[in-house]
Amino acid sequence: MRSFMLYTRWFFGAIKRADAENQLLYSENQTGAFLIRESESQKGEFSLSVLDEGVVKHYRIRRLDEGGFFLTRRKIFSTLNEFVSYYTTASDGLCVRLEKPCLKIQVPTPFDLSYKTVDQWEIERSSVQLLKRLGSGQFGEVWEGLWNNTTPVAVKTLKPGSMDPNDFLREAQIMKSLRHPKLIQLYAVCTLEDPIYIITELMRHGSLQEYLQIDAGSKIYLTQQVDMAAQVASGMAYLESQNYIHRDLAARNVLVGEHNIYKVADFGLARVFKVDNEDIYESKHEIKLPVKWTAPEAIRTNKFSIKSDVWSFGILLYEIITYGKMPYTGRTGAEVIQMLSQNYRLPQPPNCPEQFYSIMLECWNAEPTERPTFEKLHLKLEDYFETDSSYSETNNFIR
Ligand code: AMP
Repeated sequence: MRSFMLYTRWFFGAIKRADAENQLLYSENQTGAFLIRESESQKGEFSLSVLDEGVVKHYRIRRLDEGGFFLTRRKIFSTLNEFVSYYTTASDGLCVRLEKPCLKIQVPTPFDLSYKTVDQWEIERSSVQLLKRLGSGQFGEVWEGLWNNTTPVAVKTLKPGSMDPNDFLREAQIMKSLRHPKLIQLYAVCTLEDPIYIITELMRHGSLQEYLQIDAGSKIYLTQQVDMAAQVASGMAYLESQNYIHRDLAARNVLVGEHNIYKVADFGLARVFKVDNEDIYESKHEIKLPVKWTAPEAIRTNKFSIKSDVWSFGILLYEIITYGKMPYTGRTGAEVIQMLSQNYRLPQPPNCPEQFYSIMLECWNAEPTERPTFEKLHLKLEDYFETDSSYSETNNFIR
């Protein structure tokens, strides 16, 4: 019984490499915290993930045909329990000696503030306290707030006249029904008087665009960048499955929570807002578009589709890999439209792996139907490192 209990504390089952990193980087874990996980692609294969001075390292645990687990043939163990026991007494080639099993974090997001707001999501304005201004966006301000003196929320206060309340309510009705762990949940609204409040879940680290730019991205590594992209693709794959279109997918509309959680925000709002940020939303046929993120066919015809969202996702990948650079820097929207029509595409940024760039290029296929689905993009990004060959016989540390 005791050994089973111990086993379950460090065995995390078939969790993804990126999730292992997120769990280990949780602030209460210390150097030496570790977990063993099962490979998703190769059943029966295991990896060891260890926290070493704030960096997670991964080792593939190899197996003998006749049974037995090892990192080096010098030291073979008949069970994973023995393997763990040994490396908790000596590092013997590992970056550090194994210490405590990784703490399991689970941060489920409720879909509603309470059972009442499931149906009644027009709530009393007085039940929401605005605590701290988090930012001001194109449509108004965003505040950290407290609902019913208990639940932290984000409150968007909308500039009067930024949209038609009826249009918004129609859209909000749909937004409320969209539920996915990688989409910002709409909790409630106050629409009976100005300013309209949109109440959503609160994301502690704000927008991905700003987050990428912190310290010029020096603390963000490729594994995390691929994880960001995979999480966004997962949320978008859900929208795709619900036949819903975002229309304004960009790093500024992805929010960052604790424990490396990334979620897509503001889906559907582009349709109802009257936008006025001239830097990003440029006038084209009377309506304003974030030209540098918008697929050429959507600019030409103003017809948006999930495939035009895929194009925008490609630009979002560019933002992720360049730590929040403005795409087509120094070019006007009109110039970009012209260049794209001549088959120009953003070049491969320095330090952007070929594998990552090729996904961006697929998203920018001139023919919308040839662009991948979000479901495919999600799978590809989740498996990004599984197809990596940075593994060798003599040194099985996986970068
Ligand atoms: P927006 O009006 O959506 O462009 O938001 C303006 C800024 O407010 C963003 O850049 C974020 O930093 C912040 N913000 C927006 N929504 C949230 C949220 N749900 N949680 C935390 N911060 C947010």
